[in-house]
Amino acid sequence: MTAEKVKVLIIGSGPAGYTAAIYAARAGLSPVLFTGGQPGGQLTTTNDVENFPGYPEGINGPQMMIDLQKQAERFGTKVEFVLVTSVDFSGYPFKVTVDEKKVIEAESVIIATGATAKYLGIPSEEKFANKGVSACAVCDGYFYRGKEVAVVGAGDSAAEESTYLSKLCSKVHLIVRRDEMRASKIMQQRVLNTPNIEVHWNSSTEEILGDESGVTGARIVNSKTGEKKELSVQGFFLAIGHKPNTDIFKGVITMDEAGYIKVVPGSTATNVEGVFAVGDVADRVYRQAITAAGTGCMGALDAEKFLAAKEAELVH
Ligand code: NDP
Repeated sequence: MTAEKVKVLIIGSGPAGYTAAIYAARAGLSPVLFTGGQPGGQLTTTNDVENFPGYPEGINGPQMMIDLQKQAERFGTKVEFVLVTSVDFSGYPFKVTVDEKKVIEAESVIIATGATAKYLGIPSEEKFANKGVSACAVCDGYFYRGKEVAVVGAGDSAAEESTYLSKLCSKVHLIVRRDEMRASKIMQQRVLNTPNIEVHWNSSTEEILGDESGVTGARIVNSKTGEKKELSVQGFFLAIGHKPNTDIFKGVITMDEAGYIKVVPGSTATNVEGVFAVGDVADRVYRQAITAAGTGCMGALDAEKFLAAKEAELVH
């Protein structure tokens, strides 16, 4: 059986993957995009997106991803609802296996597999997903203007998100599981110096409380004293880290210690020539739809340049 051959293979279907597809398709490269297990990516777990430029009234996250898919398909992207299960970048063209059986040969690969926010794993978290529970303060904080919210975590994200929310919300409860924070000293100082942030040390969340209107509170327990408290909050933000979706690239693509793909600064090039990484999978800092889309565009342009150089090599 001959393997299907593609010029540009895009793995992942968030804003980064679809933007790469739009650019590659318009460049006449007939890209193929494999959606992965969560078509549309993290934005499909969000309601309104109000910070993506160009939508003065905001846009529903899942709708935005449908629109991006349509835009990519309009220019000839082939979108396939499959999961990449392994890759072989040791030879050229690259080999990519989907659903553990079909092998595709690709002249260039754009990795856009994103990252997944970590959750606590308590049932009420799922129950109130999109009804007060969020893993992105910058995305959803605005909906809680003037209200009380809680943030869980103790790293730079938790510190940054608490400070961000303190400017919008009447009060922020920061729930820290140990008696110290992991965040950098300066970020911690900012948290401690903000009057409307209350830190609850040695505390973990037992339950998120709510009704049909959404989150109404959170019950926390102090691990040192056993004391339980009910916080009256309408928003509950997780900031306990993200996990980049890079397991299938381990040992092949160079990553940092947390598993984020390392790219050459100012480009999307990975350690394998012809393989590019875009979006949250290579970004542990910004993690926004617009930055993902921006690097998606860069990835397509980098792939186009790579393919043109390859073609020129063959001609000479
Ligand atoms: P981190 O992995 O640094 O921190 C995660 C935090 O969540 C830790 O404090 C951890 O607690 C806590 N945590 C983990 N699991 C649980 C749980 N089940 N219950 C309660 N708390 C939990 O993730 P971040 O997203 O904060 O940061 C990721 C990286 O990005 C870091 O390198 C950070 O420096 C960087 N970053 C930089 C920023 C900046 O410079 N502006 C902004 C945001 C991130 P514990 O400490 O007890 O392990």
